[in-house]
Amino acid sequence: MSIPDESIYIVSMRVRDWPKPSVPGSATNTCGACGDEVWVSPATAKSLPGVPVLCVPCFQSQVKTLPAGEKAEIYITAKSLREVAQTLINRRRRN
Ligand SMILES: [Zn+2]
Repeated sequence: MSIPDESIYIVSMRVRDWPKPSVPGSATNTCGACGDEVWVSPATAKSLPGVPVLCVPCFQSQVKTLPAGEKAEIYITAKSLREVAQTLINRRRRN
C-alpha cells in the first residue's frame, strides 16, 4: 500500500502493543495496511468518520517511502487533545 498525495489517515496504536486503550471508551478498528487491530478514541471516530486507519508501524513504514523532500503532516484535533488531557488528569487523580 502506498499513500497517495493529500490523503488523510487516522494513525492509531495497535491493540497488541497497548492491550488497554489510552483513552477510555476507545473502540477497535482495523489497520488498512496490515489488518492489525488498533484503538480509535471516541473523539477521533466522531471527528473523522470513514477515514481509513493505519497502525503506527505501517504509518512509519509509509513515511519512509515518501520521495525526498516530501513530509507527512500530522494533526491532532482539539477534541482529541482535550480527550488526552482529561485522560492524564484522571490518571493523576487516581494515583
Ligand atoms: Zn498496520
